[in-house]
Amino acid sequence: MAKKNEKINWEYAPAPESTGHINLKEQYNLFIDGKWVKPNSGKYFDSINPANKEKLASVAHANEKDVDKAVKAARKAYDTVWSKMAPSERAKYIYRIARLMQERAREFAVIESLDAGKVIRESRDVDVPLACNHFFYYAGWADKLEYAFPNRKVSSLGVAGQIIPWNFPLLMAAWKIAPALATGNTVVLKPAETTSLTALKLAEIIEESGLPAGVVNIVTGFGDTGAAIVNHNDVDKIAFTGSTAVGKIIQKAIAGTHKKATLELGGKSANIILDDAPLDQAVEGIVNGIFFNQGHVCCAGSRLFVQESVADQVIEKLKHRMNSLIVGDPMDKNTDVGAINSKEQLDVINSYLKIGQAEGATMYQADCSLPKSGYYCRPTLFTDVAQSSRIVQEEIFGPVLTIQTFRTVDEVIQKANNTPYGLAAGVWTDKGSRIFNLTTKLRAGVVWANTYNKFDPTSPFGGYKESGFGREGGLHGLEAYVKLN
Ligand code: ADP
Repeated sequence: MAKKNEKINWEYAPAPESTGHINLKEQYNLFIDGKWVKPNSGKYFDSINPANKEKLASVAHANEKDVDKAVKAARKAYDTVWSKMAPSERAKYIYRIARLMQERAREFAVIESLDAGKVIRESRDVDVPLACNHFFYYAGWADKLEYAFPNRKVSSLGVAGQIIPWNFPLLMAAWKIAPALATGNTVVLKPAETTSLTALKLAEIIEESGLPAGVVNIVTGFGDTGAAIVNHNDVDKIAFTGSTAVGKIIQKAIAGTHKKATLELGGKSANIILDDAPLDQAVEGIVNGIFFNQGHVCCAGSRLFVQESVADQVIEKLKHRMNSLIVGDPMDKNTDVGAINSKEQLDVINSYLKIGQAEGATMYQADCSLPKSGYYCRPTLFTDVAQSSRIVQEEIFGPVLTIQTFRTVDEVIQKANNTPYGLAAGVWTDKGSRIFNLTTKLRAGVVWANTYNKFDPTSPFGGYKESGFGREGGLHGLEAYVKLN
C-alpha cells in the first residue's frame, strides 16, 4: 500500500465510448396515444450534457391540456384494449419491449451517460441491464397474478400517473412502467426535466413493439407538468420518485381523493463498519455507496459510522482510495465519478460544502483535477461532525460523505436511526449474528450486509418515515398496482 494519503499517479490513456451509433433527434415531441404530437404551448426546452454543457436535443414542455390528452388516451386504451386483453398476451408485449431494449442496450447506455452525466460503466453495466431485467421479470408475472396473490381476486387500478427523477432515468421508467403494464394498467409517465432522452427512446421502442396506442404515454416537462398529472381527476394511481419536499406536495394534493399512491423519496442512509469487518472490502463498499454515480443515488450511503477502534485505519484507507478515483468525462470507461447532473444540483452540493465547514466540520477532498467545462464535484468527506449537523441530517445528493464514530452497537443503532429518513443502510462485519441483530433494528427499507447498492428486480425497494411508502420491485411492486378482494 502507498504511504499515508500519498497521491497515486495512475495514468490511463483515454478510453472514450463511441457515440457514432446513437440516433438522437434535434427535437422531441410528446408521445401520446401512440403518436408523436407537438406540445399545446408550442414550447420546448433544452436537454444539456452536464459533462460539457452542450445541448443534446430540445424537448417538448407539456402543459395541462397535453396531460389531459395523455390521460384520456390512457383511459381509452385501458377501457377498450389493455384491461380486456388476456394476461398472456399482455406479457408478450412486455417481453418484446425488454428484448428491443436489450438489442439497443448500447445506444441506451450512451444516451443515458450523455444526458445524465453518469459514467458509461454504470449506465452500460448497471442501469440498462437492470432496466431490461425489470421488463423481463414483470412480463413473467403478467399471467400469474393469481399465484402472486393466492385466494384473492386481483384487478387492475386503471390509469397510473408516474413521475420520475433524474438519477436513474431509464431504470426508474422501467421500475414504474413494467409492473403497471403487467397488472393491466395504462400509463402516463413524466421523466425529469434534465433527463428526458432515454424515456423518449423508450417511447420509440414501445412504438416499435406494437403496444396498442395509449397504453403508455410519455409527457415531458417540469414540475408544472408533474402537478398536472397528480391533479388530474381521471388518474387512479400516482407513483412518484423524487424529493421529500415534492412528495409532501403530492401527498397533500391527493389527500381525500380516490388516488392510490406510492412515494419513493429522499434518504440519508447509514453505512456501518464494525471492528471485525474486512476493512478493505468495507472501504470499497463505502466508495461504491457514495462516490460512484456522483452520490446521485437516493439510497446513497452518505453517513458512515465506524467503530472507534478501527476509525483511524478506515479513514486513512478511505482517503487513500479517494485519491485514486478518476473524476471526469462520463463517457470514458476509466472514469469512476462522472458529472453532476445539473448546475442547480452542483450549486446545492457546493452550498452544503460551505454549510459543513461553517458548522465546524473538517473537510477532506480527493486530490484530483476536474475538467474545465461541465459540472463536477470532488469526492468529499467530513469528519468532526455532530449528529445534529445539517450535513448529517439533510440529503445532499452528491459525492459527500460524513463520518461519525461509535463505541457500542446500541449506540450506532440509535445514531443511524436518528434521521427523518429510512431508505437504506449497510452493515459491515464478519459475524452473521451481528448482521441479524443490526438488520432487525435499523429502520430502513433495505439493509445490505457486506455489500452496498445491490439491486435486483426480484427484491422490493422502498422506505420508512420521510423516505416514503410503498415498495417497488419483486412481488411487493405488483401489489402497488392492483386491487385485491
Ligand atoms: P429531485 O430533487 O430528484 O430533482 P424533484 O422532486 O424535484 O426531485 O423532482 C422529481 C420529479 O418530480 C421530476 O420529474 C420533477 O419534474 C417532478 N416535480 C417537481 N415538482 C413537482 C410537483 N409539484 N408535482 C409533481 N411533480 C413534480
